[in-house]
Amino acid sequence: MKLSLVTPCYNEAPCIRPFWEAVRALHLPCELEFVFVDDGSKDETLIQCRTLAKEDPAVHYLSFSRNFGKEAALLAGLRNATGDVVATLDVDLQHPVTLLPEMLREITSGAYDCVAARRTNREGEPWLRSQCAKLFYRVLNGISEIEVRGGETDYRMMTRQVVEAVLSLQEVNRFTKGIYAWVGFRTKWLTFENVERFAGTTKWSFFGLVRYAFQGISAFSVAPLQLASVTGALSCAAALLYLAYVVVKTLIMGEEVSGYPTQVCLILFFGGFQLFAIGILGNYLAKTYLETKRRPPYLIKEKH
Ligand code: UDP
Ligand code: MG
Repeated sequence: MKLSLVTPCYNEAPCIRPFWEAVRALHLPCELEFVFVDDGSKDETLIQCRTLAKEDPAVHYLSFSRNFGKEAALLAGLRNATGDVVATLDVDLQHPVTLLPEMLREITSGAYDCVAARRTNREGEPWLRSQCAKLFYRVLNGISEIEVRGGETDYRMMTRQVVEAVLSLQEVNRFTKGIYAWVGFRTKWLTFENVERFAGTTKWSFFGLVRYAFQGISAFSVAPLQLASVTGALSCAAALLYLAYVVVKTLIMGEEVSGYPTQVCLILFFGGFQLFAIGILGNYLAKTYLETKRRPPYLIKEKH
């Protein structure tokens, strides 16, 4: 049996060798294949991969023509992995490789198709960031048919069948956590404590995460598109009631012109809301536009 380890790497030169050593030190009871995906790094990542590949025939690597993002790197890794069982994990050792033997046992026992790892804490992360993450998962689960757990990571091991299922989803805008939830299969959950990365810094900025959140929601839910219809219907109903009230009141008490502040508030509110709703529409339209172009999600410059 062969196990492929898919690791996206963006400016991770100091982590590559320690990662490889940590995995080798486990002496896993199967054939190994390393698939390092260099996501257009600007440092020595590719050189490190080349050196390792010369030392260890099990090391393979792909190098993108530029930075295409982690989701694209994971996709490329999964497409190129040849193992019967495939694991995806970060190269910065934040996904403890010590979980691999247990994951492998669960998969080979045949009881599960997929083993996923979840962080139990978010220590070392800014408070605002973890609160926003929690809110994001609550919203996503509430308005989509999929269920993504808080603390869920991209650390997974899966059978070839699950890999094929994940690859059968053709979308370019890939939100991998949602894709795993969507394809289903029997999934075993393991937990681990958050650890600091081995070297270097995180590639995520706060706004990068906000963009990621919108990407996740628009990939798996169309609920925001219905927001305008629901609010529109409600405000129409309110307007009709108010109209009846005004007519009756005028008939009984005579005409009276007032309510300037009310008008200003209503115009501003509905003007703002309409622009907001058009913005959401535009967001989905943009996604549709990008999907219909069918551009490749990444370009490979070098492959070994
Ligand atoms: N990564 C990538 N492309 C990117 C950003 C990140 O391949 O554009 C990789 C990165 O090298 C690492 C993994 O994705 O192996 C997770 O990134 P990072 O550690 O920065 O995220 P965090 O652990 O802070 O969530
Ligand atoms: Mg990390």
